Amino acid sequence: NSAPAETAAQTPAAAERPLPAVLGADLEVPVKGGRLVGYANLDYAASAPCLEPVNAAVAAALPAYSSVHRGAGYASQLTTARYEQARHTVRAFVGARPDDAVIFTRNTTDATNLLARCLPAGTTAVVFDTEHHASLLPWQRSVRLAPPPLPGSAVRAADEALAGIDGPKLLVVTAASNVTGELWPIAALAHIAHRHGARILVDAAQLVPHRQLNLTALDLDYVVFSGHKLYAPFGAGALVGRRDWLAEGEPYLKGGGAVRSVGDAAGGEVDWHDDPEPRHEAGTPNVLGAIALAAACDALSATGWTALVREEERLIARLRAGLATIEGVRELSLWGEDHPRVGIVSFTVAGHSAREVAELLSGEYGIGVRDGKFCAHPFVRHLLSTTERRSPAGGRDHGHAGGCEDGTDSAVRASIGLGTTQEHVDRLIEAVRDLAAR
Ligand code: PLP
Repeated sequence: NSAPAETAAQTPAAAERPLPAVLGADLEVPVKGGRLVGYANLDYAASAPCLEPVNAAVAAALPAYSSVHRGAGYASQLTTARYEQARHTVRAFVGARPDDAVIFTRNTTDATNLLARCLPAGTTAVVFDTEHHASLLPWQRSVRLAPPPLPGSAVRAADEALAGIDGPKLLVVTAASNVTGELWPIAALAHIAHRHGARILVDAAQLVPHRQLNLTALDLDYVVFSGHKLYAPFGAGALVGRRDWLAEGEPYLKGGGAVRSVGDAAGGEVDWHDDPEPRHEAGTPNVLGAIALAAACDALSATGWTALVREEERLIARLRAGLATIEGVRELSLWGEDHPRVGIVSFTVAGHSAREVAELLSGEYGIGVRDGKFCAHPFVRHLLSTTERRSPAGGRDHGHAGGCEDGTDSAVRASIGLGTTQEHVDRLIEAVRDLAAR
């Protein structure tokens, strides 16, 4: 018998390619008693730490920058070239069509609001109550759908809602929940939206740090995401998608750069650009933010997704399995524990408020997590009131009945990514075990 052929995943080059490092991996923080411990940052879904290649790209751009698109000087030309290269990188990163617009925004919230202002008159947005507020709130006219009990019922609910709407319509949906990490059936939802002549906006804020996204292959109309969740510092995000609505929509900011010409007092008109990029990017843009965002895209693409996803899945499975062994800990989940998800887990601990748990994790164990309703109030309330009771063995009735029982309507969220270690995960499990027993 000949040896089995080596697959690409088994070749040494693929197996050993190092994942990019994050800044601050050796940060130490004080805990109770004044001891210093290594910081276990498990709050990536809020903002992920900066990747080293992102830091290097920003450092390389700092010595010679100037405002883009305006100056003839060397620094201005160089900065313009870097800014437009960043746009190109973002386009490739999400697999956009060649004629899609790529608009740099401040973040995801800014991007959804920009699109909301550009919808044709009378457009109805169809939005699930499971969305982050950034996707739930910007719409002038919307139909809100209850959290669907199954992925298939999400598609059916969207189908029915879209069928009942006249005029322009936009289906808005997250690709990966910021509360449960669960992946949504965006390809099926795109298909349904298009069958009804609607467009689809995908909130990819929590997907792109964890999985490859291909807008063209999935046939999505718009995607939005934030640099600070993608291992770049704050201040830059993107809206990518079809040009026509954006070319016609009211310029998002009115000012320099968005106009071709401005008439004078004697009745002159303002001639706005109808290319979406200048039209909606008035003022001096956040060039360093765009460079950082693009460097993060480049670093993730160069790493390859296989190794990244494999390590993340190993760690999140370990974390969820560990939490499931703790009496009184209940994971929040819409579609059940086997539904695929990114590296996010939200949970409650019987007898302790989420705030108390988060503060003890920080103050006694040096672990950073988030507590609250994660800017998804309707969804977290729904999960707390409906998630099945869980026991260490996956049985029933060992847990508490609902978050409100403890006088709280919040949960604790742990989220992981590049730079997360097994020690961080194990420390969280043991810390929660300690707290749950108090
Ligand atoms: N959408 C989702 C799914 C998110 O998790 C977040 C941030 O938590 C946002 C949108 C808003 O992102 P930003 O605060 O960067 O605008």
